[in-house]
Amino acid sequence: MPREGREGSIEVITGVMFSGKSEELLRRVRRAMIARRSVQVFKSQLDDRYGGIQRISSHDGREIEARPVSNSRDVAEFVEPDTEVVAVDEVQFMDPGIVAVANELADQGVRVIVSGTDMDFRGLTFGPIGNLLAVAEKIDKLHAICVVCGDLATRNQRLIDGRPAPAEGPTIQVGGLESYEARCRAHHLVPSDLDDQMPLITESEGQAS
Ligand code: ADP
Repeated sequence: MPREGREGSIEVITGVMFSGKSEELLRRVRRAMIARRSVQVFKSQLDDRYGGIQRISSHDGREIEARPVSNSRDVAEFVEPDTEVVAVDEVQFMDPGIVAVANELADQGVRVIVSGTDMDFRGLTFGPIGNLLAVAEKIDKLHAICVVCGDLATRNQRLIDGRPAPAEGPTIQVGGLESYEARCRAHHLVPSDLDDQMPLITESEGQAS
C-alpha cells in the first residue's frame, strides 16, 4: 500500500530494562504485519562484529528478525520507498541524528516506532531518547518490578561482581562483565569513587560562620 495520503507519526516505547519494551515493540510490529503493512525492523548495535541479521528477542523468549544499524544514516539509507512502518529497537544507543531521521520519515507518512531505555545506570537521560520523547506523538513509559522490594521499577541498576557500580564508569560498556537489575528510585544505588576520597562535610562544618 502506498504511503501517500497516510499520516506518519513517531511512537516511543521507553522505560527501565525488563519493563517489556521489546515485547511491546514486537507486538506492534506483528499487528502491523497482520494489517499487511510493509514493515522494516532495525536494531541499534554498538558492536558491529556481529553483522548480518540480528534478532530482537524479548525476555519472554519471542523474537523477530531485525537489521543491525550502527548510526542514524544507516536507518535513512536502508528504509525502502514503500515501507510504511519502521521500528528501531535499542534506540538509546543511536546518535542524535536519529531524531531528524525519525521526523523526516514521519513527515513522509511513515509510522515510526522506537524503543529504548530512558535512563543510563546513573539515572541520567540516555542518548537521543529525551529529544525523541519531545517530538513523539505517542509515548509509553513502561515499568518493571523492583527486584529488591517488589514496587514498580523505573531505574537501571548496574552491578559489578554483584555490587552497585560506581558513577564514574562509562555509560556504555561494550562486552562488559557487568549485569543489570530493575529497581525503584529508593533502591537504585550509584556510589561515587569520590565519596571515598572526600570527607563528608559535617553539619557544623557546613554552617556559615
Ligand atoms: P525490555 O525490552 O524492556 O528490557 P523485555 O520485553 O525484553 O523488556 O522483557 C520483559 C519481560 O522480562 C517481562 O515480561 C518478564 O517476563 C521479564 N522480567 C525479568 N525480570 C523482570 C523484572 N524485574 N520486572 C518485570 N519483568 C521482568
